[in-house]
Amino acid sequence: MGSEFSLLIYCNNADLATRAARSAFDRIAFLDQTLSDYRTDSELMLLCDQAGGPPVPVSPELFTILRRSRDLSERTEGAFDVTINPVVKLWRRARRNRELPSRDQLDAALDRVGWEKMILDDDSQTVRFERPGMRVDLGGIAKGFASDEALRILREFGISRALVAGAGDIVTGDPPPGRDGWTVGIAPVLDPDQAPERFLSLANQAVSTSGDAERFVEIDGVRYSHIVDPRTGLGLTGRSSVTVVSPDGTTSDSLATAISVLGPDLGIPLAEQTEGTEALVLSSSGGSESPRPRMTTGFETLLAPLPIGEPSIPSVAGPES
Ligand code: AMP
Ligand code: MG
Repeated sequence: MGSEFSLLIYCNNADLATRAARSAFDRIAFLDQTLSDYRTDSELMLLCDQAGGPPVPVSPELFTILRRSRDLSERTEGAFDVTINPVVKLWRRARRNRELPSRDQLDAALDRVGWEKMILDDDSQTVRFERPGMRVDLGGIAKGFASDEALRILREFGISRALVAGAGDIVTGDPPPGRDGWTVGIAPVLDPDQAPERFLSLANQAVSTSGDAERFVEIDGVRYSHIVDPRTGLGLTGRSSVTVVSPDGTTSDSLATAISVLGPDLGIPLAEQTEGTEALVLSSSGGSESPRPRMTTGFETLLAPLPIGEPSIPSVAGPES
């Protein structure tokens, strides 16, 4: 998944903690081998190789995440779309070469994009892509899903006081001993290396931050994010950082990416309509203008006082290998 995962565990049996952690990392490695688009031999990439052909049976994990992705595409009218990979690839190349993809290249890639052309059959657990050349990219949802799975494995070992962080996607279990929650800092949108200004206190919740703070390309004075608007094929340009808190990481991760595309006017209502979910959108039109916060009504109740002498975990959009 091109990211580092870390686990924080409170447990008074070091041997149990080590075995549980090993098992959780094994699960993450398995999901990487299943869902990654960086590995040509992942289950997902082998599935995409058959695009244009008959339905293909897939593993329960792959089916689940594609189902979750497609459901969010429907809810966002395609703002979140995991079939965006052909376009994302052009932008990855643009980042390497510092050269914009041409309109023709973008249009040719967009021809192979479309969540409605990814057909899922719940009964037979099969997937079919209507067009040859279609490819899926789970970069906007897989880290949250893998973090959920890692926490589930730790719980199977009887460990509930734990936190799993996959770059900007963090899933928390019960709080550390003697505390009400895990303190997670929200990185400032303009300079993620600066100390966080806002902190959340979370337990048995997930938080994801999406934004262009770390992954972008600047060409002719315009910053293009690694998040792409499927309607235009263009990387997002305004500076923004979206933080979403949800009961699970699959939801927070995918919603943070979706709300980045939708913007606050459509994105905040989407979060309000999602059970157990709160969102904060910081966006600015550019320059040094400080970002304007927009949030769901319940977001403020999650804010924690500035931690003094307490460890906190930064939630930032993670680097890409
Ligand atoms: P995140 O960091 O979770 O916001 O995910 C960003 C990643 O999601 C990108 O690097 C792409 O792999 C993928 N992506 C980009 N645009 C979209 C989109 N419109 N819908 C779904 N996934 C996207
Ligand atoms: Mg995401």
